[in-house]
Amino acid sequence: MPELPEVEALRLGLNKKILDKKILSVQVLKPKIIAGNGIKRIASEAKTKKFKEGLKNKKIKNVQRIAKNLIFELDDKSILLTHLKMTGQLVFVDQKREKTLGGHPITESYINDLPNKHTCLVFELNNGKLFYNDVRMFGYMLHYKNTLEAREKGHFKNIGLDPFQKEFTLPYFKNEIREKNKNIKTVLLEQSVVTGCGNIYTDEICFASKILGERICKNLTDKEITLLYKNIKNILALAIEHGGSSVSNYLLADGSRGNYAKLHKVYGKAGQKCLVCKNILQKKIVAGRTTVFCPHCQK
Ligand SMILES: [Zn+2]
Repeated sequence: MPELPEVEALRLGLNKKILDKKILSVQVLKPKIIAGNGIKRIASEAKTKKFKEGLKNKKIKNVQRIAKNLIFELDDKSILLTHLKMTGQLVFVDQKREKTLGGHPITESYINDLPNKHTCLVFELNNGKLFYNDVRMFGYMLHYKNTLEAREKGHFKNIGLDPFQKEFTLPYFKNEIREKNKNIKTVLLEQSVVTGCGNIYTDEICFASKILGERICKNLTDKEITLLYKNIKNILALAIEHGGSSVSNYLLADGSRGNYAKLHKVYGKAGQKCLVCKNILQKKIVAGRTTVFCPHCQK
């Protein structure tokens, strides 16, 4: 599943290619993808027709992001909202056959043969084609009148602040964390205070902050919360700069593999030596997820 840095890298890549481009037509190969976002989705011809007609001849003005939702803003103020979930992927192929893509999982042969059996939607733009593929089909792509309507339909609920928005300040973070009677790893993974920390980045952030993921938030010291705050911002920014982590075949918008994985200090390294103290990194389950940590550096 892509984490926030990978989705942001995809957004930046798409924004270079499809701004001000017009949607000439839409093919809906798997109507379930546009029929809703829950477990129960009822596709219908009426929904499919409305989706296709609503998007025809609209220009893409911007690609935005709220947490891991990508939002294509169109010239009539309506939005196309997508969440890739476990296995969704977007591939834009321009007229020179150059690809801009992101998602999971992707192999060379798979993207060279589009549409394929996992292709759900094909958007024909005036400079190429955008494919939405999804093996397990937990993802979705929905058309709303505006962002407000998407909010009213329950999107973006319980989503904390983006680590890069100006409202994400140290006083905000301290207030939120001090009130929580849960462990820090749980709070970061649930995204309710700040978005963007999945399993990989939570382990890296806790290690850099010298705290164990199972520490209860309200017992963290002022100094520890400040360190966490700085590391959330710094580690996610660095990951975006490096295009995210290439774990699980994650490919970047320009087709290269994310190379932040080379900078991981603990994630996926249980049994290896800690880069700081040379003790052996351990693993255990915290917040229901495999967690790698240094028993010496982290308290
Ligand atoms: Zn250590």
